[in-house]
Amino acid sequence: MIDPFGRAISYLRVSVTDRCDLRCVYCMAEDMTFLPRDDVLSLEELARLCRVFIRLGVRKLRLTGGEPLVRRNVMTLVRDLGAEIGRGLGELTLTTNGSQLSRFADALREAGVRRINVSLDTLSAGRFAAITRWGKIEKTLAGIFAAKAAGLMVKINTVALKGVNEDEFDDLIAWCGHHGFDLCLIETMPMGEIGADRCDQYLPLSLVRSRLARRWTLDESDHRTGGPARYVSVRETGRKLGFITPMTHNFCESCNRVRLTCTGTLYMCLGQEDSADLRRVLRAGATDQEVMVAVRSAIAHKPRGHDFVIDRQRRAPAVARHMSLTGG
Ligand code: SAM
Ligand code: SF4
Repeated sequence: MIDPFGRAISYLRVSVTDRCDLRCVYCMAEDMTFLPRDDVLSLEELARLCRVFIRLGVRKLRLTGGEPLVRRNVMTLVRDLGAEIGRGLGELTLTTNGSQLSRFADALREAGVRRINVSLDTLSAGRFAAITRWGKIEKTLAGIFAAKAAGLMVKINTVALKGVNEDEFDDLIAWCGHHGFDLCLIETMPMGEIGADRCDQYLPLSLVRSRLARRWTLDESDHRTGGPARYVSVRETGRKLGFITPMTHNFCESCNRVRLTCTGTLYMCLGQEDSADLRRVLRAGATDQEVMVAVRSAIAHKPRGHDFVIDRQRRAPAVARHMSLTGG
């Protein structure tokens, strides 16, 4: 699949549910209304769509959400997709808040998952509870260590929040170094109504990086995952440190991905509204060939890039849908 700007689309991110057991302040409002169940694709429908994408050239699949591990019987989907590894699919990964990982780590590994991303914004129990509105850090930490024990490579994702966790990045780098995890810092993106002012949360990573460089030796790295992160190598820990900077750096020119929501909507760009309704195609009784035609025509409309702005004048989010719908 080649889009109009010559980019090969080889990476599909699938949000398997919009639900979550946490309510992170930058991601969701406290009183979220979730999708009615009939709107959500069954696990079989999701697996079928994923297989179509694999036939069309997708080599990497990431399950996300909401929280993917709160979707009932999600391991059925993971196993179905794991069976595609080596038959077109190169890698199956997952982004999770870690709260359910203690239960699922071994099964994920058995299904063929080798690497996961776990979101953790702080090492402090109090801050964790405040950021997630009611989460327990012990559960997430236990999940992270269960994943490590199961032989999964762990990357920690941390959203950089002004005045909330900006004094902790040194500790997080040291902690990740100690336990053998890579770390990725993420700027907040203006997605979804969250009942707070984004300007209060936004912390440019250019600033963070120059602060970190006072304490750590950050060696430029040409490591790329095909994703938006720019990596450096932390000489003191030997681990990678990534920066995802949608606000200060435009990474769209090398974008290789599209996103599928749990309702079967295919979004061509995280920051744009362009989409295709694959549920309608699927539920109209389309053959795999017909679904492929629908996907190809959607890819033909992938926009060049996004233009997020966090603007004090403009109170509304740049994109109305929440990150939990499209998947981070
Ligand atoms: N629940 C899982 C988790 O938290 O990892 C997967 C879904 S979550 C939407 C995926 C990632 O998006 C998380 O790392 C989260 O921190 C990040 N995220 C959510 N809302 C965001 C926002 N407005 N700006 C930047 N990152 C965001
Ligand atoms: Fe849930 Fe992940 Fe959003 Fe936090 S970031 S509310 S864990 S979906």
